[in-house]
Amino acid sequence: MTGRVSIITGASRGIGRAIAVELGKGGGQVVVNYVGRVDDARETARLVEQAGGRAIVEQADVSLAEDADRLVESALAAFGRLDVVVNNAGITRDTLILRMKDEDWDAVMNTNLKGAFHLIRSAARPMMKQRRGRIINIASVVGIVGNAGQANYVSAKAGLIGLTKTAARELAGRGITVNAVAPGFIETDMTAELQSDVVAKMVEQIPLGHVGKPEDVAKAVDFLASDKAAYITGQVLNVDGGMVM
Ligand code: NAP
Repeated sequence: MTGRVSIITGASRGIGRAIAVELGKGGGQVVVNYVGRVDDARETARLVEQAGGRAIVEQADVSLAEDADRLVESALAAFGRLDVVVNNAGITRDTLILRMKDEDWDAVMNTNLKGAFHLIRSAARPMMKQRRGRIINIASVVGIVGNAGQANYVSAKAGLIGLTKTAARELAGRGITVNAVAPGFIETDMTAELQSDVVAKMVEQIPLGHVGKPEDVAKAVDFLASDKAAYITGQVLNVDGGMVM
C-alpha cells in the first residue's frame, strides 16, 4: 500500500528497525519510535528513506500513557492518518522467580504489555474513524510455551497474546485487524548477551537449523500489515524456524 502510515515502537534497533525499513519500502511513511538511543533511531530513519520511504523520529516511553498518546498525535500531525501500529518495544530482566524483584516484574510488564495496551487505546480512535487499520503485536514463542528464568517476560508476552485476541474482537466491526507475531530466536542486541553454549543448545531445537534475522520477522509483519491479510485477525504467527509447532 503506497503511502501507508505506520508507527513502529522500539524501532531504533533490532527487529523494530527491520520492520521500519520493510514498511518504508515503496513510499511507506514511518514514525520511528525510540526511548533512549536517538542516534540509532536517526540511523533507522535514514535507512527507511534509503528504502524509498519517509520517516520521522519520535522519542516516547510506551509505558507512559501520555507518551503513547503523543506518539499517535505526532503520526497524525506529520502524515494526516494512521494505518498501521506495530507494538514492538520490549525489554528483558531475566532471573529465576525466587530472585525476581518487584521492579524487574513491573519494568517488563509496563513496557512489554502495558505499552501495547496504551498504543492500542490511543490508535483505536483514529483507526475507527478511518474504518480501517492494522495492529500487530510482537509477542514471543516463550509466551506460548514458557521459559525458566523469564517469568516476567513470558507473562507479559502471554498477556500480549490475550490482548491481541480481545482487541481483535473489539475492533473487528470497524475494519481493524489485530494480530501477533511470535518470533523464536532472532539475532539482535536482546539475544547478543547469551552464552555461545546456550545459543548452540537452542539452535538444536530449531528444525530449520539456524537462528532468525530481524528481516524474517519484518516480512511477516509486512504481510499482516498488507491487504493480503485483510481476512486474518486475532491470530498468532510464529516466526521461529519451526521451534514451536
Ligand atoms: P532490542 O534490540 O533490545 O531493541 C529493543 C527496542 O525497544 C529498542 O528500540 C529500544 O529503544 C526499545 N524500547 C525499550 N523500552 C522502550 C520503551 N519503554 N518505550 C519505547 N521503546 C522502548 O530488542 P529486539 O530483539 O529487536 O526485540 C524487539 C521485540 O521483539 C521485543 O518486543 C522482544 O521482546 C521481541 N522478541 C525478540 C526476540 C529475539 O530473539 N530477539 C524473540 C522474541 C520476541 P532504545 O534503542 O531507545 O533503547
